[in-house]
Amino acid sequence: MTNSISLIQANPQQFIQFLNQNNIKRFSLVYDKKADKVNVSDVRLQSLADFVNTDKRDFMRHEGMLFQISEKHDVLFGAFIHKTNRGQASGGLRYWHYASIEDFLRDGMRLSKGMTRKNALANLWWGGGKGIMVHNPANDKNDPKMREELYKDYGHFVSSINGCYITAEDVGTNEQDMANVFSETRFTTCIPASVGGSGNPSSATALGVVHGMEAALKFLDLGTLEGKTVAVQGMGHVAEPMMGYMFERNVAKIVAVDINQELIDEVKAKYANKNLDARLVDIKDNSILFEECDILAPCATGAILNGESIPQIKAKIICGASNNQLKDSKIHGQAIADRGITYVPDFLVNRMGIVNCADEQSGYIDNDPYFYRHLEQDFEFSVFQTALRVLQQSQSSDTPPAIVATKLADELALENNPIYGHRGSKIIESLVNNQWHKG
Ligand code: NAD
Repeated sequence: MTNSISLIQANPQQFIQFLNQNNIKRFSLVYDKKADKVNVSDVRLQSLADFVNTDKRDFMRHEGMLFQISEKHDVLFGAFIHKTNRGQASGGLRYWHYASIEDFLRDGMRLSKGMTRKNALANLWWGGGKGIMVHNPANDKNDPKMREELYKDYGHFVSSINGCYITAEDVGTNEQDMANVFSETRFTTCIPASVGGSGNPSSATALGVVHGMEAALKFLDLGTLEGKTVAVQGMGHVAEPMMGYMFERNVAKIVAVDINQELIDEVKAKYANKNLDARLVDIKDNSILFEECDILAPCATGAILNGESIPQIKAKIICGASNNQLKDSKIHGQAIADRGITYVPDFLVNRMGIVNCADEQSGYIDNDPYFYRHLEQDFEFSVFQTALRVLQQSQSSDTPPAIVATKLADELALENNPIYGHRGSKIIESLVNNQWHKG
């Protein structure tokens, strides 16, 4: 593994082997504003910097990307810091498997950029970041001892980077894992309520999605959710309470699918006296996307709005919780608009999970206005108002909503924090000056 191509194409375990052989425990890729390029902390990893510097798809002048191998278990840790103008880079910790280092770097860059946009569009004084732990197939994910050691070690890693990144829960990580992270670092949110955190964010996320649907209905002059039919892909943590909020608003019917019969049975029992048509599907069966309905709510996986699915969609509105629903934000955003379907961007409506934990450090009060204003109709940055504004601007500029929302978010992301300024970049600078990678 000596030439530049092979490191990027190596699988994570081959890459870790290379790091171990070369006695590299930590390394960083940090953006140099003056030179407009990323510098790597160790010349033996120059090929990673070359890859990032020439990438046109996922790299967007990320301020810093910091990496470490876990003390035990040979797991690669990453903290991807996209932008910190508005505040510390905030975003969840994903525990996932990757075929190559390229896939890992791309996912981290893409997800952290997405968090910058989500946080900025919600007008939170937070920047955007993402944490990743790469699953090592030799480890049993269900071994509680292994998980405890791994997440504590990740917490230790987060502490070492001095707060430029604030971690949280994400795919593959659970509440107990977050408690383990918290035991080693103060730079985390989404911790259990028992240790002063805000707990599970899913119900809050669900309510935000429902507000996005209401904005789209208003925009189209179609009234309220009452009497509407909604098709839902996935019946998990967000979709289940979301159905409850929709039934409260007297939807006529919900058609929902999942790949897990046990879960379907639980949700059916919960809404036994409601008009819920719940079906078991195979993981590759996307037929729910083509259901006759007013609103389609993707709440399972990403990239489901693509060249194959879009021509067959019958809904007037698409609004759901899943991240990265558009396989390609430009091409497929345009394809949806061309079909006359109103798409409410995912990162606009699924923000309430992050809003829920945004003020954890400031204590709790009943009916917290800093949370609930995101669900009011007249607050400028509420889900409803932002969605309406994006849809109106989309119409007047003949530009797909995802593009409008992204532009708006990118402008907001450049505003400096009113108290701390662009402090995150200074933290990264100090890590480089103090040779963090040698620690
Ligand atoms: P979840 O894992 O609890 O629920 C997803 C459900 O989708 C699962 O029940 C799973 O069995 C089902 N599923 C997977 N593939 C499917 C398929 N092909 N067809 C039908 N069902 C399928 O996750 P969640 O917390 O409910 O989140 C749902 C989506 O929303 C995810 O994409 C997540 O990243 C996003 N999101 C969640 C939150 C949150 O607060 N939980 C916040 C922002 C975004």
